[in-house]
Amino acid sequence: MSRLQLPPPSPGRRQLLKLGLGAGAASLLPLSSVFANTISTRARIVILGSGAAGLSMANRLSRRLSGATITVVEPSDLHNYQPGWTLVASGVWEAERTLKPNAQFLPTGVDWVKGQAAGINADLRRITLADSSTLEYDVLVVATGLQLNYQLIDGMSPKLVGRNGIGCVYASLDAAGRTRKAIDTWLAQGGGQGIFTSPQTAIKCAGAPIKMTFTTLSRIKAESTRERFDLDYFTGGGGMFSQPWINDFLKQRFDQENITRHHLQHLTAIDAGAKKAEFTSPNGDTEVRDYDFIHVVPPMSAPDFVKDSDLIAQEGAFKGEWLDTDIHTLQHNRYPEVFGIGDVIGAPINKTAASVKAQAPVVEANIVAYLQEKPLNARHNGYTSCPLITDIGKAMLVEFGYDNNMEFLPSFSFIDPKEESWSAWVLKDYLLQPAYYAMLEGRV
Ligand SMILES: Cc1cc2nc3c(=O)[nH]c(=O)nc-3n(C[C@H](O)[C@H](O)[C@H](O)COP(=O)(O)OP(=O)(O)OC[C@H]3O[C@@H](n4cnc5c(N)ncnc54)[C@H](O)[C@@H]3O)c2cc1C
Repeated sequence: MSRLQLPPPSPGRRQLLKLGLGAGAASLLPLSSVFANTISTRARIVILGSGAAGLSMANRLSRRLSGATITVVEPSDLHNYQPGWTLVASGVWEAERTLKPNAQFLPTGVDWVKGQAAGINADLRRITLADSSTLEYDVLVVATGLQLNYQLIDGMSPKLVGRNGIGCVYASLDAAGRTRKAIDTWLAQGGGQGIFTSPQTAIKCAGAPIKMTFTTLSRIKAESTRERFDLDYFTGGGGMFSQPWINDFLKQRFDQENITRHHLQHLTAIDAGAKKAEFTSPNGDTEVRDYDFIHVVPPMSAPDFVKDSDLIAQEGAFKGEWLDTDIHTLQHNRYPEVFGIGDVIGAPINKTAASVKAQAPVVEANIVAYLQEKPLNARHNGYTSCPLITDIGKAMLVEFGYDNNMEFLPSFSFIDPKEESWSAWVLKDYLLQPAYYAMLEGRV
C-alpha cells in the first residue's frame, strides 16, 4: 500500500533534520543510570512479562546486578510495538513494521520461562505458572501490562473486529489491520454513522481513541465527503483527556469538526448483526444508537491473576483493579520486595510506553537500593507522553506529569505542546520507534 500524502514541512523540520533522523530519537533522549555501578547480589529476581516494561527492566537489572538470578516469565515469542497500531489501523503503516522477536531484546544470562504466570502468593514470595510449576523470588517486578475486558460489553468479542462495521485498535496487531479494513469498507460506502468510544476506566494510551477519530476524519475529508458522514464520540469520562489544556483544546476541536460529544456514557452492549450499540450513564439510563462503523475501546484493568492476588489495591481509587504501588517509588505499598512498572500499576496518569521510559530508571535504582537496604530515593514524576495525532501528517507532542495540575513537561524546545505540527508527526511516524527499542535494551 502506498503511503498517504504528507503536508509540506513546518518550521520544526530543520531542527529535526539537524538532530538526525538516521541516528534515531534515542540520541535525543537523556541518558539515565546506564553507566551506574554494578552491585553483587545472590538475589532471585522474577520479572512477570516482557513487554515494554519487562524488557527494559531485564536489560537494566542484568547490567546492574552481578551474581543475581534474573528470570523473565513471558508466553509470547513476539514483541509488539503497540504505539504503531494506530498507524496500522489508519492505513499509514504496514503491520510487519511493529513486530520483532522477543529473543532479540532478552539479554544473555537472563532465564526466559516461556509460560504464563497464573498466580502470585505474596506471603510465600511464590509465582505459580499456568502449567502448575512454581518460581520463588526475593524481588518481584510485576510488568504484565493490562487486560482488555471485552466481557463487560454484552455481545462484544475481539473476534468481531473487522466484521459488521466493528473496529478496535487495541485488540491485537491483527485486529488493528482488521480495523483498517472495517474503516475502508465504511468509507467506500460513501457515508453513514460512525461512532467512536472510550470507556469509563483508565486505558493504555488514552489518546488512541481520539487518534482513531481524527485519522478517520482526515480520510473522510480527503475524499471531500464530510457532509455525508455523521460522527459521534461517546466517552465514559466527564472530559476528553487528563491534561487540562489539551482537554479544553479537544472539546473545542471536536465541536468545530462537528463530531458530537457524549460524556459519561459508556458502551455496555453491542448487537453486531443489527449494528446497534447501547450506552449507559452513571445513573443507569441507557440509549441505543445505530451505527455503520463503531470503534470499540473496552474497559481495562490489571490481569485477573493479579486482581486475584494480595498485590491488588485494597482501597482507594485503584481498589480491586490495579497493582497497589507507591506512584513515586513504584514499590508495592504493602510488600516491599515487590515493584510495579508499566500499565499494570494504579496511578492517576501513565499507561504509555513513554511512562515506562521514565519509570524504568526509577525502578532500577530503587531495587538496587532495596537490595542494599538503603532508602528508596528515586522518584517517578508521573511523566507520560502522547503524540496526539490530529490529522494524517499532523500531531501534538503532549508531555506532562503529576505535578502542578498536570503541567506540560516538554522535551524539545522547538515543539510547542499546544501546537499541531508536522515535527510532532515525524516523531510519531519515524523517531519514537527506534527510541522505544533503545528503551527495551535499557540504553535510554
Ligand atoms: C493502540 C495503542 C496505541 C498506543 N500508542 C502509544 C503511544 O503513542 N505512545 C506511548 O508511549 N504508548 C502508547 N501505547 C501504550 C504502550 O504500548 C503501553 O503503555 C506499553 O506497552 C506498556 O508496557 P507494559 O510492559 O506495561 O505492557 P505491555 O507492553 O503490554 O507488555 C505486557 C507483557 O506482559 C505479558 N503478560 C501478560 N500477562 C502475562 C502473564 N500472565 N504471565 C506472563 N506474562 C504476561 C504480555 O504477553 C506482554 O508481553 C499504545 C498502546 C496501544 C494498544
